[in-house]
Amino acid sequence: MSAPDPLFDLDEAGLAALRDARFAATLDRIFAAHPHYRRRFAAAGLRREHIRGLADLARLPVTTKADYMAEPDAFRLGPEGAAEPEETVVWDSMYTTGSSGSPTPFVSTGYDFLNILALQRNMLRLRGVTADDSILNLFPLTRHPHGAFARAMNAAAAFGIPVTAALPGQVSPRQPGIGHRLDEVVAIAARTRATILWGVPSYLRKLAARAEDLGATLPATRLLFVTGEGFGEDARADLLDRLRRLGAPDPRVSVSYGSTEMQGGMVECTAGSGYHNPSPDQFLFEAVDPDTHAPVPDGEEGLVLLTHLDRRGTVMLRYALGDVARLTRARCPHCGALTERLTSIPHRVDGLVKIKGMLVNPQALVDALMAEPALAEFQAVVDKDVPGDPLSMDRLVLHAVPTAAPDPDTARRVADRVRRACGVTPTVQWTTPADTLLAGRGWKAKPLLDLRTP
Ligand SMILES: [Zn+2]
Repeated sequence: MSAPDPLFDLDEAGLAALRDARFAATLDRIFAAHPHYRRRFAAAGLRREHIRGLADLARLPVTTKADYMAEPDAFRLGPEGAAEPEETVVWDSMYTTGSSGSPTPFVSTGYDFLNILALQRNMLRLRGVTADDSILNLFPLTRHPHGAFARAMNAAAAFGIPVTAALPGQVSPRQPGIGHRLDEVVAIAARTRATILWGVPSYLRKLAARAEDLGATLPATRLLFVTGEGFGEDARADLLDRLRRLGAPDPRVSVSYGSTEMQGGMVECTAGSGYHNPSPDQFLFEAVDPDTHAPVPDGEEGLVLLTHLDRRGTVMLRYALGDVARLTRARCPHCGALTERLTSIPHRVDGLVKIKGMLVNPQALVDALMAEPALAEFQAVVDKDVPGDPLSMDRLVLHAVPTAAPDPDTARRVADRVRRACGVTPTVQWTTPADTLLAGRGWKAKPLLDLRTP
């Protein structure tokens, strides 16, 4: 008899028992071999016997991104107590794309990689993937290994379906044959007839716009997997309209709330169902008050914390992913999974930007622009009227590539849309895809760039 499926086969007591056992084993390893927590718990007078199970989880301190970035190696379990070689052998190091400073390594062992494959498989199951699907991986290669490119490859391996990596962009002049220009990616998409397009929304949008220009069709597309950037309802509708114009009869968008610290993401089983923890046997999520770190009741907005229940490389307890959201532990009424779900779109606690004295939610600005059919690509830039002079006025400039030749009304309409979304009116500057500002972005497009010195 095979073990029960933690997502669907267990009742609340069964899942709690499984997680308590995993957590207890994790704590044993941490008290034996985790440099950061050993030091921190000792300083706080916390001993292993003080934490009897998940019921005592809230006695442990919250771990911040700053704690981790200050000493990433101290978050790796040492070899003490490891029973099998696969628990200590390094499989890979992925890197978090921090907002500042150098990327931080997140290490997985061979043991962890098998769990990552199981996690990827669960994500595809929740997203409604079948054995007849195939994936077009639209993530570029990055300088540091990053989950996004590898994730699409690993997911296909875990599910036994085909994947094509389109490798957008020139990777390096050293190997000019590796990587593809946009028109080549359109040709790859048309030729492979993948049913799943997987990438960042801004690139999917760019691909769809160019495919339309070139008269290509993508009729096999049924799922659009997006991650990396937030994605509002209007933007979702716009992208689906574009795919329908390319011949896809019934495309659907599936959003993932991903993180390096999961090596995967929380996914929707159906639009609006909330972001499911895809592996409740591997991860536990909580929501706490951002200031006091006291648990908030289910359904109330709180700082999202991740606890690893079964890792051997980099291991974190009560790690603040940096976003707030509403969390529920109720069984999903759509798919029947018993696991945590985030029922609101996670947003940064500290994500607001002040422009001309207005507090602006960048996500609202991005959502408004993603929903504008006249734009193929864009980047909003905040800087100063007099660059380098912190006392001069802020200005918001929208650099945008139009989908068709814009008329004078288009710029006004776009500016109006931005003003309605965030209260600040931008200057619209039409540009071309080759413009260095837009072309020079990293994998995770920065839709809002703040050039002001702090
Ligand atoms: Zn569900």
